Amino acid sequence: MINVLFAARPERWSTYEAPLKTAFAARGLTVDLRQEFAPQDVDYIVYAPNSPLQDFRPYTRCKAVLNLWAGVEKIVGNETLSQPLCRMVDPGLTQSMVEWVAGHVLRYHLQIDRCLACQDRWEPFVPPLAEERRVAILGLGALGQACADTLCHLGFNVSGWARTAKDIPPVSCHHGPEGLREVLSTADIVVLLLPDTPETLNILNAESLSWLPAGARIINPGRGPLIDDSALIAALDSGQVAQATLDVFRVEPLPAGHPYWAHPQVTVTPHIAAETRPITAARVIAENIDRGEAGAPFLHEVDRSRGY
Ligand code: NAP
Repeated sequence: MINVLFAARPERWSTYEAPLKTAFAARGLTVDLRQEFAPQDVDYIVYAPNSPLQDFRPYTRCKAVLNLWAGVEKIVGNETLSQPLCRMVDPGLTQSMVEWVAGHVLRYHLQIDRCLACQDRWEPFVPPLAEERRVAILGLGALGQACADTLCHLGFNVSGWARTAKDIPPVSCHHGPEGLREVLSTADIVVLLLPDTPETLNILNAESLSWLPAGARIINPGRGPLIDDSALIAALDSGQVAQATLDVFRVEPLPAGHPYWAHPQVTVTPHIAAETRPITAARVIAENIDRGEAGAPFLHEVDRSRGY
């Protein structure tokens, strides 16, 4: 019997219990899944960082903490955590992000706002083709690469930026601090899909925003701290950035009275780009427990020193 502790907010239990039990059974795993155990009896923890569980020291035989979220910034620095930590790479979440990013890129590409503003007059215009629109994706991980793939299939001229070198044609790939300027200086639309780490903090700031062609657009479904908010507002006010769609913020929910709410060039969405989908995510968790029991390496293990 494998003891699996479900440590998320209590209201998530009813969403995940059945999918997890189905996924464990499909893999032939004999699992006792509960919301409470004596800590020393727990083999794996299915975890959400907003769970009350914050001290991992009593979980002495736990083989892995399996995060339900893709982002790990709220747990990666927890000094009580000595067990392997796996982040969530869920095909359902990925598909959701691809749809959200493609939709918001197409909004800007097709100038849908301009059409909505012209509902009382006949003003024809010809949008460029996708191949004439340059989209830069910052972060070429699970989500960035999936979005790049779909945007390439739609015909966009896609470039990307990551920490390490990549070769994923037809995406024009850049990396490292020197690659950031190259990728931003040719971007009509920038999509942020980086993790929140000390290195990515304020990656879009007054200087890097100045490298963009005037009138560029920003789409941030990554994390709020990737953007220096004051610098973005100044760039919007000067016209350096034409519009921004922001799904994530330093403080969530975005506080009433925050300048983003009232800014005419900003679209706020309430952290909805990509939610973990219980059925597909449960299969990933079951696969990782199967691997742990077989002594195989875990999928999607976080490098704690890198922070993602
Ligand atoms: P991932 O697979 O870990 O990919 C992260 C990417 O960022 C990698 O390509 C990595 O480069 C790059 N990167 C990290 N640090 C960098 C640095 N200092 N300089 C340049 N590139 C750097 O993560 P993911 O699954 O794609 O998820 C990305 C983020 O999306 C998550 O961390 C989370 O914050 C966010 N997210 C948001 C939502 C939402 O609903 N809004 C939902 C899910 C996830 P290498 O490839 O070289 O390592």
